[in-house]
Amino acid sequence: METRHRVMILGGGFGGLNAALKFKRAPVDVTLIDKRNFHLFQPLMYQVATGSLSPGEISAPLRGVLSRQKNTQVLLGEAADIDPVNKRVILRDGGTYPYDSLIVATGSQTSYYGNDGWREWAPSLKSIEEATAIRHKILYAFEKAERATSEGESHAWLTFVIVGAGATGMELAGALAEIATETLRHDFRKINPQDARIILMEGGHRVLGSFPEDLSAKAEKLVRRLGVEVTKEVMVTCIDADGVTYKSGEESKRLAAKTVLWAGGVTTNEFGKKLAERTNAETDRSGRIKVNPNLTVQGYPGIFIVGDLALSLDEKGNPLPGVAQVAIQGGAYAAKTIKARLKGNPEAKPFHYFNKGNLAVIGRAAAVADIFGLHLSGLPAWIVWLFVHLMYIVEFQNRVLVFVQWGFEYLTFSRGARLITGVAATDSVNQPDAMNHPGDGN
Ligand SMILES: Cc1cc2nc3c(=O)[nH]c(=O)nc-3n(C[C@H](O)[C@H](O)[C@H](O)COP(=O)(O)OP(=O)(O)OC[C@H]3O[C@@H](n4cnc5c(N)ncnc54)[C@H](O)[C@@H]3O)c2cc1C
Repeated sequence: METRHRVMILGGGFGGLNAALKFKRAPVDVTLIDKRNFHLFQPLMYQVATGSLSPGEISAPLRGVLSRQKNTQVLLGEAADIDPVNKRVILRDGGTYPYDSLIVATGSQTSYYGNDGWREWAPSLKSIEEATAIRHKILYAFEKAERATSEGESHAWLTFVIVGAGATGMELAGALAEIATETLRHDFRKINPQDARIILMEGGHRVLGSFPEDLSAKAEKLVRRLGVEVTKEVMVTCIDADGVTYKSGEESKRLAAKTVLWAGGVTTNEFGKKLAERTNAETDRSGRIKVNPNLTVQGYPGIFIVGDLALSLDEKGNPLPGVAQVAIQGGAYAAKTIKARLKGNPEAKPFHYFNKGNLAVIGRAAAVADIFGLHLSGLPAWIVWLFVHLMYIVEFQNRVLVFVQWGFEYLTFSRGARLITGVAATDSVNQPDAMNHPGDGN
């Protein structure tokens, strides 16, 4: 029996899932492998971290999404190694899977810039477990402040530091400010949640460094209006259980804060490193693999890399940003190229990223947007943000749930998913118990 062309896709995030969907009815056999059994809508993860949405509302089971696509099988497994010469992927549990074409979309992981020990005290927002761990940390801090026996202790529990003022840091800071000033306003008897200090620390000279200067200034104004203190041009040198040490100019300063959240950069993950090693590929400082204009790895025309793991350049030679649209369009392009090759068509045009705009949300009715050079801020930008995020949530049912939830919250300032789960009374969210049971769907 004639075997069909085998397409393997590693990762069911924005890049991988969108590639898989493009193979619907194509005469190929697709295998999508992910270490998680769900697609995660990362742009709404801060809503889980701040108790607005539940994990289930921003995730969709990969099997469910692809259940009607008969030429596609979904496997749960972690890619650990690759033999690019014999065209095989080796999973962490030893399973080996052959491919004819491979699309790698395994994304990135948080970078603590070589200070991995900080992770214990300053969780980042990259997985659903981390989002629920952050939710735990924030809510737990208010509980501890209520029971504090001294003013100093209470201040430390009510001081929240967010390191990194990119889109994620701004979103977290804005949401935290709203939790303190609105959501929890009437919930405590001893403390006043409005006394919480929220400090956003940024190494650069402006917030939202990837946005145009005027929008970055507007975003800073919006976040300050919510009560967030913005500290720029500082370098964090230590994070521990009791706070942050940082350098401002030549001066070293210490801030007592029981809750520190990390919104720094990203770096490649273990499989990305292995792939670069096995293919002798060039990488940049954060480990992204340099790809050809058609998103393939140098010397391996059958291996495509899309999304956060790829270092692809635009027409002017600038690296494309690590955002969802680059991954989505890259995944679609790789699928189209493979299908065209099978039809014997000449090589497709180089990948062209169509930038639909940049958006960042700061709080209720407060956002900034740069859409085809049109700069919006405040309510109009927030409405665009709302619309775009609803559009791209994968499952229709989730879209409806999220819409209803947002509408309700907009009117009431409530946050329905305000549960401390995992382990109820510990200072570190990295207790084994907390990490084992965080994604409970609440
Ligand atoms: C908190 C947060 C907010 C964001 N907000 C925005 C936003 O508002 N707008 C925007 O455009 N972008 C945003 N981004 C960035 C955007 O989410 C990423 O650029 C996008 O997810 C990259 O897509 P990807 O397919 O490369 O990787 P991902 O979507 O991260 O998917 C990678 C997939 O690979 C799987 N995987 C990883 N390693 C392995 C392995 N070894 N074996 C098998 N499977 C593996 C993972 O489980 C995952 O499903 C945000 C990111 C974060 C973390």
